[in-house]
Amino acid sequence: MSIYRHTESALIHGGNTIDPLTGAVNIPIYQTSTFQQKALGLHPEWEYARTGNPTRAALERLIAELEEGTRGFAFASGMAAITAVLSLFRAGDRVLISSNVYGGTYRVLDKVFSAFDLHYAIADTDDLNELEKEITPDVKAILVESPANPLMTVTDIQGVAELAKRHHVLTIVDNTFMTPYLQKPLPLGADIVLHSGTKYLGGHSDVVAGLAVVKDAALGERLAFLQNATGGVLGPQDSFLIIRGIKTLAVRMDRHVENAEKTAEFLNSHPAVRKVYYPGLSGAQGYEVNRRQAKNGGAMISFILDDQHDYRVFFSSLKLIALAESLGGVESLVCHPATMTHASIPKEIREKVGITDNLIRLSIGIEHIGDLLADLSQAIEASSK
Ligand SMILES: *Cc1c(COP(=O)(O)O)cnc(C)c1O
Repeated sequence: MSIYRHTESALIHGGNTIDPLTGAVNIPIYQTSTFQQKALGLHPEWEYARTGNPTRAALERLIAELEEGTRGFAFASGMAAITAVLSLFRAGDRVLISSNVYGGTYRVLDKVFSAFDLHYAIADTDDLNELEKEITPDVKAILVESPANPLMTVTDIQGVAELAKRHHVLTIVDNTFMTPYLQKPLPLGADIVLHSGTKYLGGHSDVVAGLAVVKDAALGERLAFLQNATGGVLGPQDSFLIIRGIKTLAVRMDRHVENAEKTAEFLNSHPAVRKVYYPGLSGAQGYEVNRRQAKNGGAMISFILDDQHDYRVFFSSLKLIALAESLGGVESLVCHPATMTHASIPKEIREKVGITDNLIRLSIGIEHIGDLLADLSQAIEASSK
């Protein structure tokens, strides 16, 4: 029985990250690649740091506890985590993905795994009837993100998981945008949760990391084997930084979301803005589903300016909000999905799913809301044709 019942406390005490050797309240950075063995054939807990390192293990326990899974895994990047998880499948299998999954997820399936005959199909994961039609006998998993980048499309995680279970297919949820503080896919029925720890979990735009959590112990064994066999593990220094980031996740997310809600309202009522994509805005696609499965709408917003405003000038006019890839850091960032995060998706597919050239994506940081709105306001004004 745990001594705390709330995620806020688990973020700080979960996974017991106190050093077992000294009692240091922060797990040390065990900067070592190997461990002395007392005698032949004893197979101690720590042997070689690709297989296991105490700092990484503390993070792995922590993320497993936060996501309410049985086992967690830390990788050198979100893509390394996704690659290890996709390695669970074999030639001839197929993975269903939603149309706007992270660009790198699409790319690794399209350009890397397809060469090994692991196929993928793009499915409409926000329409369960359409999704069910795509579940051919070779489909072994459905990989979703909710909300999905960059149109913040909401997918009914519980609905997908129930459908998947009926067809004996795994449900994999990339929970990067929400974090376990706002949404927990495993209790909703998912089998595997993925994270780019680079984003909100690290939270300070200073480390690249990936995480995976499973519910089923046998699946955990297989993923542990794959993590060790393929070797894309997170180093001890970066494991420490992610643990440190996670401790402040709740307070950061509260401010991220408070700012995002105000920004979404601001954009939604701005005469120059044609459309706002934010699942926390009542009337948005998936608003009700998101409210059921998540604490709130998160802190990612996309929007489109009307034809009287030039999006290119908007980008070049921002002063505080930096143009950069990535998201989830304390600083607000703006991104142009068509040429940045989703550039690896062919233009025809991009346009078809709504990632038009004038789409603007914001990662709302934790600055003062007044400064954020002032920057957006002056950049919109400057972009007037
Ligand atoms: C960034 C991101 C990834 C990839 O993570 P890296 O740490 O950059 O490898 C995967 N999924 C989502 C939703 C992301 O935002």
